[in-house]
Amino acid sequence: MHVSARARNMEPSATLAVSAKAKSLKREGKPVVSFGAGEPDFNSPPSAIRYAEEAMRGGQTHYTPGAGIPELREAVCAYYKDRFGLEYKPADVVIGAGAKPLLYEALGCLIDPGDEVIVFTPAWVSYVEQIRFFDGKAVLVDTSNNSFIPRIEDARRAVTNRTRAMIINTPNNPTGAVYDRDSLASLAKLAVERDITILFDEIYERLVYGDSVHHQVLNLVPEARDRTIIINGVSKAFAMTGWRIGYALGPSGIMGYLNDLQGHITSNACSVAQWASLGALREAEADVVAMHGAFSRRRDLIVDLMREMPGVTFTEPNGAFYVWFNVEGLIGRSWRGEIIVDDAAFCRILLDSKYVALVPGSAFMAGGNVRVSYANSEEEIREGMRRLREFLEEID
Ligand code: PMP
Ligand code: GLU
Repeated sequence: MHVSARARNMEPSATLAVSAKAKSLKREGKPVVSFGAGEPDFNSPPSAIRYAEEAMRGGQTHYTPGAGIPELREAVCAYYKDRFGLEYKPADVVIGAGAKPLLYEALGCLIDPGDEVIVFTPAWVSYVEQIRFFDGKAVLVDTSNNSFIPRIEDARRAVTNRTRAMIINTPNNPTGAVYDRDSLASLAKLAVERDITILFDEIYERLVYGDSVHHQVLNLVPEARDRTIIINGVSKAFAMTGWRIGYALGPSGIMGYLNDLQGHITSNACSVAQWASLGALREAEADVVAMHGAFSRRRDLIVDLMREMPGVTFTEPNGAFYVWFNVEGLIGRSWRGEIIVDDAAFCRILLDSKYVALVPGSAFMAGGNVRVSYANSEEEIREGMRRLREFLEEID
């Protein structure tokens, strides 16, 4: 059968691949500690489950409006008003089957073949693949020279007359960086000046620690509003990854196109999951705060344990639930005779020998690094880090 060049050129999602491998080793009875896919280990909030049950019993099991049930779109607007003081109309909100398809739909509505999208690297695995799928060109801007916060000069240099969009992800996956006010504002001003759309992925906005603050880009640069699409969802903050609900907010014109595109792909997102998300947005604030507390303690724990790791370096993360560390000093060295040729080999040998799953940095456009997702219990974090340290000490 003929397979399209688009499909052949696509890299499968490495985050999903690592977690699938970890799960299958676990099924074989191996004592796996998975720091692979970024998903909270907590149960979804009781209010989400109650709303879902009531929806199923009450016959809410049909197609919904393509952009989502009005109640949920209203709740998303209320959330944005309360949390950031931003006024959106429910008509300018699209509910999708996760943040991931909404990003895809947004890119599909923004880029023509050959158009450029600025992506700050290290970057979450799906951005570049989604851009390529629309025959767009991802223009990568490395942030590792500045603690993973883009320098405005570097961003400015990447802009051409084909630049259509810039993806900003703070708090950041995979680095855990939280963009400071000035850096974020200058990126948004650059977008305004050069007529570039901002895709503002703030799916980790509830997960910042210590003195760090998450800035909503439109609070800093309100004049960017008519060129900004906000992407958020219930996956991370509410521990609801499997329900698959995300939301996008933006100017009416473009949101209409997103809705039309979604109408040809998923129609609406799952009806029951939309009701569950409504339950979460209305009643799960205390759960979010409790989960944040647990993540904050885990973050402190893992940062302390990372400091003891020989041969690797890392920058302390301030947000999300990831630690990003550099393994370049280990490339070319060996573990029990096996050469660690790159970051992927590092992760493979570690998983096969110590049953600790990590994601190679090359999946995030930054080889020579590795990502740890610490959305695990403190006990698992201690055990996984103990094995990682043992592995590092055994490298010749
Ligand atoms: N953006 C980022 C930065 C992410 O890490 C993820 C990971 N899941 C998503 C978007 C997609 O989230 P969702 O589960 O809502 O599709
Ligand atoms: N976003 C999470 C991660 O980076 C979940 C998997 C995915 O959607 O990529 O691990």
